Amino acid sequence: MKEEIVQHAPDCLFCRIVAGKIPSRIVYQDEELFVFHDIHPWAPVHFLMIPKVHIPSMAHVGVEHAGLLGRMMALAPRLALQEGCNPYPGGGFRILSNTGAEGGQEVHHLHIHVMGGPRPWLKG
Ligand code: AMP
Ligand code: ZN
Repeated sequence: MKEEIVQHAPDCLFCRIVAGKIPSRIVYQDEELFVFHDIHPWAPVHFLMIPKVHIPSMAHVGVEHAGLLGRMMALAPRLALQEGCNPYPGGGFRILSNTGAEGGQEVHHLHIHVMGGPRPWLKG
């Protein structure tokens, strides 16, 4: 069953980062999105894109979030290049969203990993 979606969850690490209570290396933010560097990068470029609103995972996404998710995906290529990913097709980037325990999700606030830069990478 889906949990109720709250604006901000006090015990959520990424809500605390959005609120500035935990420091982060910010890449971009606007009214609804927050983007920051992953603290343990797998690749030369590795940042996380999150909605400011607390959505626990991709499993909680419905059609009402299509605009939000679309804006995240549409922003990713521009930020990937800005942060040092090489241009397609020789360069490029990887986008992934771990969802739930079996999907390898550790932080339960929806996030999209964007990774890129020259190989080899630590993982992925
Ligand atoms: P996931 O397994 O998809 O839930 O990944 C959570 C990601 O959050 C991992 O790649 C962590 O390195 C990253 N992470 C955890 N704490 C922080 C933090 N304080 N600042 C930035 N990234 C973090
Ligand atoms: Zn949260």
